Amino acid sequence: MKLKDKINITIRGFKTLNELIPGYLPFAAVKAILEALLPFVNIYMSGLIITAITEKSDLQKLIVLAVITVVLNFITTMLIKILSRIANVKSSVFEHVKDLQLDRKIQTMDYEDVEDSKVHEMRANIDIKNRSTGRGLPRLYWWYFDEGIKSVFQLIFSVSLVASAFVSKPVHADGIWNIVFSPAGTVVLIVLFILSLVLDTYNNAVIAKKEAKIFEGFDYTNRVGSYYMDILMDYKIGKDLKLYKLRKSVMGELRKLESKLIDTMNEWQQMCVGYKVISAVNAAVMSGIIYAYVAVKALLGAFAVGSIVQYVGSLTQFTQGFSGLVSILSDIFVNAEGLKEYFDFVDIPNKKYRGTLPVEKRAFCNGGDNEYEIEFRNVSFKYPSSDVYALRNVSMKFRIGERLAVVGMNGSGKTTFIKLLCRLYDPTQGEILLNGIDIRKYDYDEYMSIFSVVFQDFNLFSFSLGQNVAASVDYDRDRANNCLEKAGFETRLGRMPKGLDTCLYKDFEEDGVEISGGEAQKIALARALYKDAPFIVLDEPTAALDPISEYEVYSKFNEIVGDKTAIYISHRLSSCRFCDNIAVFDNGQIVQTGSHDELVAGEDGKYYELWYAQAKYYSDKKSN
Ligand code: ADP
Repeated sequence: MKLKDKINITIRGFKTLNELIPGYLPFAAVKAILEALLPFVNIYMSGLIITAITEKSDLQKLIVLAVITVVLNFITTMLIKILSRIANVKSSVFEHVKDLQLDRKIQTMDYEDVEDSKVHEMRANIDIKNRSTGRGLPRLYWWYFDEGIKSVFQLIFSVSLVASAFVSKPVHADGIWNIVFSPAGTVVLIVLFILSLVLDTYNNAVIAKKEAKIFEGFDYTNRVGSYYMDILMDYKIGKDLKLYKLRKSVMGELRKLESKLIDTMNEWQQMCVGYKVISAVNAAVMSGIIYAYVAVKALLGAFAVGSIVQYVGSLTQFTQGFSGLVSILSDIFVNAEGLKEYFDFVDIPNKKYRGTLPVEKRAFCNGGDNEYEIEFRNVSFKYPSSDVYALRNVSMKFRIGERLAVVGMNGSGKTTFIKLLCRLYDPTQGEILLNGIDIRKYDYDEYMSIFSVVFQDFNLFSFSLGQNVAASVDYDRDRANNCLEKAGFETRLGRMPKGLDTCLYKDFEEDGVEISGGEAQKIALARALYKDAPFIVLDEPTAALDPISEYEVYSKFNEIVGDKTAIYISHRLSSCRFCDNIAVFDNGQIVQTGSHDELVAGEDGKYYELWYAQAKYYSDKKSN
């Protein structure tokens, strides 16, 4: 990364911080300036008081100076405290908002990126950096900003207080002192001072670079480590860990990773020792020279004794400010790599065309005629990571109110067909039309609003049952009850301790309810019904149901689905008999369409083969 890019990305980082916690940066800046100022109030006032004492000023003057010192101290400290509180309240939100941009990105990125393992890796690396070294946005927020401003102002204040030390001429200087305090001598001292600071800068830069190098490759180790931690803490997978005695080996692996990290930390600490000793010796020598310079100059009458306190104090502050600023600057350039990972993720481009056409409000509930027609026209598709077509030349039409079953063996392309229908992916060739218009031209959110989908790998959340059904915090309780009843969950609902308010799973509530796979499937079905979209897509909706519940779903299917178009995916052919139209998928193609009776009559067809293969299995079982 070039220096210019590092600077630009750091500026972008600060702008992002300002967007995430509005108002925090100005408060933090004023606070940092006051924190830088406070020691100078004391340095300056102490100098005045000591001078007043050595000059035997009257008591009244001393008291006035002391009172001014106390008042200035009090006001500055109070202001710092007030600003710190405000800044702390603002900054406490940082932990909650630092991932906002990333989360927003995930919600809006193309689905093919959501599924892409490289994108997962990018996201995980950002997280790991945040948690381990704080590189990326966190360092900008908890180190560079406050400390950076403070250091800059420490430099400004100290230079303004110390400048006169070099300018004032000693009254009684002779011999060697004439040379030491001549303009040339002063230049030598300043050059020495700058050299010492350069050495410090170099030291810091080397340390920051070595740190980055020594911890290189730890992203992966940390990711694996945090995965192990997650699975050890996830109570839902506890039984698998126990049954397969995985806990011991996972713990063992975790220990290995931890000891690797500890060894590296030790190596790192040892490596730093040498550099730290050099820095300390450098600082001690430089301070000694400065003390001697200022003290001798004062003794030779260049300034009042009280000014020694001012000059020495200011120079100490200068050194602190400079070394603070240098550590920040050398670290900021290493941190730019972490920020780059953050912004690379935020900037992943959306390649998919996003149309703006509104979906015609044809749903009955919007007073429309409910006339929707979907057509797949010669659609072929391969996944971005694959060279093999998952769908080939798929053409079909279905109208509102129809029940379409999609059947076929595992891997024949049924789920891919639905993913394309829901525009999670765009066809590689061909087009999909809604009422004659390419679905890419519609506004995506509006287009999605006409589908309720229950995928095989649906997820429920650790919220209340009602919130899960409505997919919302606020919801219509009657409607939620009604949908659960239609989905066959009524009896179980009666046994839920708090009805719709019962929390699913035990993540947050002790009396949360663990539900079976079949119950979860019914809740997912109820959620699809609650959405009340004109198309309902069910991917193996009865796979986890017991035979009686499955029968209930079939027999009530027309009542459940009502006037919606239903697309019903299953590898169990018996569960599709009630559909008007059945599309048989094989190897990514639609090889047959028709009603059950038509298809089962075609002895050469795939449907016939699948039907009798399954029927034989059942009849063989019976005869046993
Ligand atoms: P079905 O739903 O009929 O079981 P799928 O539509 O899930 O089949 O899969 C069709 C083919 O596409 C399979 O060969 C599967 O391995 C492949 N496939 C599915 N998802 C992906 C993916 N995300 N990336 C690459 N290939 C995939």
